[in-house]
Amino acid sequence: MAFEGLTERLQNAMKKLRGKGKVSEADLRDTMREIRLALLEADVNFTVVKDFVKTVRDRAVGAKVLEGLNPAQQIVKIVDEELTKMMGETATPLNKSPKIPTIIMMVGLQGAGKTTTAGKLANHLKTEENARPLMIAADVYRPAAIDQLVTVGQQIDVPVFEMGTDTDPVEIVRQGLAQAQANHNDYVFIDTAGRLQIDEQLMDELARIKALANPTEIMLVVDAMTGQNAVATAEGFNDKLDVTGVILTKLDGDTRGGAALSIRAVTGKPIKFVGEGEKMSDLDVFHPDRMASRILG
Ligand code: GDP
Repeated sequence: MAFEGLTERLQNAMKKLRGKGKVSEADLRDTMREIRLALLEADVNFTVVKDFVKTVRDRAVGAKVLEGLNPAQQIVKIVDEELTKMMGETATPLNKSPKIPTIIMMVGLQGAGKTTTAGKLANHLKTEENARPLMIAADVYRPAAIDQLVTVGQQIDVPVFEMGTDTDPVEIVRQGLAQAQANHNDYVFIDTAGRLQIDEQLMDELARIKALANPTEIMLVVDAMTGQNAVATAEGFNDKLDVTGVILTKLDGDTRGGAALSIRAVTGKPIKFVGEGEKMSDLDVFHPDRMASRILG
């Protein structure tokens, strides 16, 4: 279960307040220290934690929470609201092009879950909107990546455009988009290459694909289990490509929660979906408010 440790620690921090009839300033200080440690242990970005703790404390003091009724309850409410804000407040919908096709370029490091997630999102749109997506295999560096996308396509009954590994990815995308136009596909997914880490050559290639395709959405796929590395990756991709949204994968295996809590605050880009398993149906719209409630347990 995700966020186990964080939920437990936050609950403990608040429980101490609940037991008290009156909360003193020292109690508030202790609680805020514990919340700070809980967030840092969950691998939340240091600056994000600092800002969060300051905001919660200022709000509690400003609202004269300590002098009012049910101070503990009010502090829990403030923490809930600020966690929600930190993750982006409300769900951010998928960008859609006024004219078909909506082009979704999937980017991210190798192994983050790009290919799987392209399939999940295509499947989601098929189910929700009766959409007719096309997926383009533009990762020419690993033959297995093309096979994998073809397999995913068969699984969800979505066509895959591929030209093997001998053609320049930009040319593959150009021809794939022409096919989508001809077939009136309403969504096109471009599955791009990843690397083990961000490098210049990869970024140049992605920039060239972006320039040609003019995508409606540049969806960055990051692995939640990598915590602050996921945040650094998000910053790196965003600096070069100005991504429009993030999909956080493997939340089912993420016991800490640092990436989910930090990415929006650090990059300013919304998490739009989360992956919570390996099956094609394991994709959910990201709701910051629900996630905050889930974290608080
Ligand atoms: P890519 O290299 O970025 O295209 O990554 P893949 O799509 O090949 O995914 C890498 C591995 O992560 C595969 O084994 C996927 O099944 C797995 N994976 C992707 N998303 C999730 C998820 O949300 N949860 C879990 N548990 N596994 C996932």
